[in-house]
Amino acid sequence: MRIPLKEGLFTTPDDPRAARLLGGRCPDCLHINFPAQSMCPYCARDGCETVPLSARGVLGVFTTVINRPPGYEGNVPFGFGVVELPEGVRIITRISDPERSRPGAAVRLVLETLCTDAEGREVVTYAFEAVES
Ligand SMILES: [Zn+2]
Repeated sequence: MRIPLKEGLFTTPDDPRAARLLGGRCPDCLHINFPAQSMCPYCARDGCETVPLSARGVLGVFTTVINRPPGYEGNVPFGFGVVELPEGVRIITRISDPERSRPGAAVRLVLETLCTDAEGREVVTYAFEAVES
């Protein structure tokens, strides 16, 4: 069985390639926030609508984490960086293949197994990987 790292971050369809991050869209200023929150961080209007976000974006800065952070139970090394989506929102995210990535590269959303919990379930999180061109 697979479970999301946290509810409400992304959809978990049967086909993992169809997964989408879930953002909040402000009804007033139309800014997108991620993770989705009800109150708009730009204009403080309450009542943002949850919307699926684009699965593709552009990689910004990133780094490779080689030492396990406190409380982290996944594998190292892993990539960690910023992806900008067409909606204009920047996502702080894992990067699946930092050795093949470069700033400005086209990337797409993937779901990957982070670890196995005490009940033997696969804990799934989101990441971005380079798009083959
Ligand atoms: Zn707003």
